[in-house]
Amino acid sequence: MKITFFSTQSYDKQYFNACNQTHELHYVDALLDENTVLLAQNSQVVCAFVNDKLNANVISTLAQMGVGLVAMRCAGYNNVDLNAAHQHGLTVVRVPAYSPHAVAEHTLALILTLNRKTHKAYNRVREGNFSLERLMGFDLFGKTVGVIGTGKIGMTFCRIMRGLGCSVLAYDVAENEELLAEGIQYTSLTALLEASDIVSLHCPLNDATRHLINEQSLQKMKKGAMLINTGRGGLIDTKAVIQSLKTGHLGYLGLDVYEQEDKLFFRDFSESIIQDELILRLMSFPNVLVTAHQAFFTDEAMTEIAQTTLQSVDCFEKGAVLAHKVG
Ligand code: NAD
Repeated sequence: MKITFFSTQSYDKQYFNACNQTHELHYVDALLDENTVLLAQNSQVVCAFVNDKLNANVISTLAQMGVGLVAMRCAGYNNVDLNAAHQHGLTVVRVPAYSPHAVAEHTLALILTLNRKTHKAYNRVREGNFSLERLMGFDLFGKTVGVIGTGKIGMTFCRIMRGLGCSVLAYDVAENEELLAEGIQYTSLTALLEASDIVSLHCPLNDATRHLINEQSLQKMKKGAMLINTGRGGLIDTKAVIQSLKTGHLGYLGLDVYEQEDKLFFRDFSESIIQDELILRLMSFPNVLVTAHQAFFTDEAMTEIAQTTLQSVDCFEKGAVLAHKVG
């Protein structure tokens, strides 16, 4: 089958080419939206990523062009209009669990970097500055970590933090039996926000979770607490978080995702003038760390993403049951 890949990066080509045996892979750099959708001409499958915009118009055009399968090479599918896909008879698959460890471990990396300031120490030492002034951190041991969303990634993260001697509080709309059996305590969202020294977001972005972290929820957090988001940018109201950082209420912020990331992430703007005032303001705080949606980015995860996606295309071609169908 001919598969058109949108938002392609060099590593996508590397991993998909290595796994592919039978399909014709057509790589496009552009993000998928209404202006670029025609690049999928003559394809039976479109392979998209986190910031591609699969709204009703794009879905309708894909269906008219004869595309039958949208294969998301990621876990989240908040950027796909599933109603429109259903209406136009388009099947959507995703990669539900390529490596929860990759994301959970990156979450820990953000916490440790913000806390122990290794990014600042690295630069200081390279310049011959061996002073410890302003590098003070805190022990993670004994601290309370609030985990919002305890699915595959949240569960892995709970276990990592427990291993470090943290006390873990969880909030989810559906409690995880395995974690309950391990003694993880579930609580209300308010109680979690009030009690946690670190709050980490691992729920999907949907109508119920959009701006879950807003002015009111930030006020409930402990003064000086740390907030980490490796879920989706839209879980946080960015303006509210900037305000909380400005007053000193929010102590630290670690982001791997950002609400307006589609205009920035996965591209090099080092020689350009960045127009997004919010990200510039965020990056100006000494207690904010931003990574560009790289939590998934490990060799194991990329291999699994390519294998699972191409297996789904194989099944679609044969008319077999699609294990990772969405909706
Ligand atoms: P999952 O489906 O296994 O778990 C999600 C959990 O969130 C579930 O337990 C679900 O019940 C819970 N949930 C749903 N609605 C909720 C709500 N309103 N409040 C609280 N909890 C709620 O998903 P996962 O594989 O653990 O991934 C979680 C999210 O992480 C994905 O949706 C995706 O957006 C994000 N993600 C980010 C990266 C990255 O590179 N930064 C990579 C993969 C996934």
